[in-house]
Amino acid sequence: MSDLKTSESNSKPVAFKKLNAVKGMNDILPGESAKWEWLEATVRKLMAGYAYRNIRTPIVEPTALFVRGLGEVTDIVEKEMYSFEDRLNGEALTLRPESTAGVVRAVVEHNMLYEGGKRLYYMGPMFRHERPQRGRYRQFHQIGAEVLGFQGPEIDAEVILLAHDLWQAIGLKDVRLELNSLGQPPERLAHRAALIQHFEKHTDVLDEDAKRRQYTNPLRILDTKNPAMKAVVESAPKLMDFLGEASLAHFNALRQILDVNGVHYSLNPRLVRGMDYYNLTVFEFITDQLGSQGTVCGGGRYDYLIEQVGGKPAPAVGWALGIERVLALLEEQGAVLPDAMPHAYAIVPEAQSLPHVLKYLRQLRALGLNVQMHAGSGEGVGSMKSQFKKADSSGAQYALIFGADEMLQNAVSVKSLRDGGGAQRTESLAKLDEWAHSLQSPT
Ligand code: ATP
Ligand code: MG
Repeated sequence: MSDLKTSESNSKPVAFKKLNAVKGMNDILPGESAKWEWLEATVRKLMAGYAYRNIRTPIVEPTALFVRGLGEVTDIVEKEMYSFEDRLNGEALTLRPESTAGVVRAVVEHNMLYEGGKRLYYMGPMFRHERPQRGRYRQFHQIGAEVLGFQGPEIDAEVILLAHDLWQAIGLKDVRLELNSLGQPPERLAHRAALIQHFEKHTDVLDEDAKRRQYTNPLRILDTKNPAMKAVVESAPKLMDFLGEASLAHFNALRQILDVNGVHYSLNPRLVRGMDYYNLTVFEFITDQLGSQGTVCGGGRYDYLIEQVGGKPAPAVGWALGIERVLALLEEQGAVLPDAMPHAYAIVPEAQSLPHVLKYLRQLRALGLNVQMHAGSGEGVGSMKSQFKKADSSGAQYALIFGADEMLQNAVSVKSLRDGGGAQRTESLAKLDEWAHSLQSPT
C-alpha cells in the first residue's frame, strides 16, 4: 500500500510486470483444447457404454489422505507433493497428485457402497513437483476409471478392456499392455524379506536411491532405470514365485478373459506402480514413441485402500491415463484430430443491420449451426474485403452475407469459403429451418 502511494505522489508511471505461467504448468490454447474436448467427449461416450458414472472431487484434499501411516515411501508422497498450510486455520492441505485416494475418500464419506458396487470415472488436473520435460509436467491431467466393491477378476478385465477400447475409439496405435500380479500382503512380505536378503548380498552395486529404499520399499528398486543395476534387478527373487493359489487363480482368470477378447499383453514381473496401495493385478499401457515418458496409462487393484481411508473394507480396481501423453502420442502418430471451427461466419456490410442480423444468428444457432458474428476491430464494421479475410481465417466453411440488398428481400447470401468457393446462393431468412442444417456438413 505504501509503495503504491509513493509511486502515485511521485507521479512516476507504474511499470507493469509481464507474468508467465508457473513452470511446468501449461495453458491449453484453443487449437489444442479442441483436441482435449474431442478426447473428453469420446471418453464420456465410452464410459456411458460401460455404465461408468462421473465423479468430481476437490482438487485440494487433506494432506493426510495421501500421507497415510501404513503407506510405504513413494516418490510422489516423499518429494512430489504441493503441500501447504491453510493460512487461516493451519490445516495441512495438498493439491491432489492423483485422484484415486480422493475418489475413495468421497465413496467412504458418502457411504456410496451401501447399496452395492460402483463404477466411476473422473477427469481433471493433478499436481506433482517433478522436473518438467516433454510428457512430464507439474500440472498435468488425468482421466481415470475406478470400480469399487467388486472382487472378481472379471472387473480387472473390464477396466483393462475399457482402456483398450478407448485406444481403438481414438485411433491410438502401438500401445502395449504389460501385466503383473503383486499378490496379497503376506505374499509380498515373504517376497520382500527375500528381496532385502538379495540386495544385502549386492550392496556394492546399489545406487543411492536403492540404498535409501533397501529397507523402506525394496520392491521399488526393481523399477530402477539405472543400467548399472540391471543385473542385480534381473537376478532378484520374483514376486510371482511367492504367490499362493488364490492369487494365481485371480491372475490366470484375468489372463483368460483378455485372451478370449483378443487383448495382447506381456508379463512384466518387475512392474510395480508409483502408489503403494496396489495388490494383485497391476498393469500399464506403454509406448516406445514418447521417449522415457512412455507410460500412457497405469492402474491395478487396490483392495486395502478403502480401509486405510477409514471405510469398511471393500475391493477396488482402477486406472488413470495422462491426457497430455495420449494426445502427444496421437500427434506423434500423425493422427489428424478435429478442431472446432464455426460452420459459418456472418458478414455484415452495414453496421445498422447488426441488431437484426444478431436476431437471425441466434435463430440459426438454435437450429444447431455454429456461427461467428463479424465484429469490427476498429471503428465501424470494416470493408467487405477485410470482413471476407476474417471470415476466411475464422476457419468457417461458409460466409453468410447480410448485405443491404439481401436484407431488403428478407434473404441472406451463402458462399462457400473452402475448396475454391463456387457459386453464391440466396436463402430466405423466413425459412432458416429449411437450409440451416445443410451448412453443418462440409460441401
Ligand atoms: P511415470 O512413471 O511416468 O512417472 P507414474 O507411474 O508416476 O508415471 P501414475 O501415477 O500411474 O504415473 O499416473 C498415471 C498416468 O498419468 C501416467 O501413466 C502418465 O500418463 C500420467 N502422468 C503421471 N505423471 C505425469 C506428469 N508429471 N506429467 C504428465 N503426465 C503424467
Ligand atoms: Mg511418476
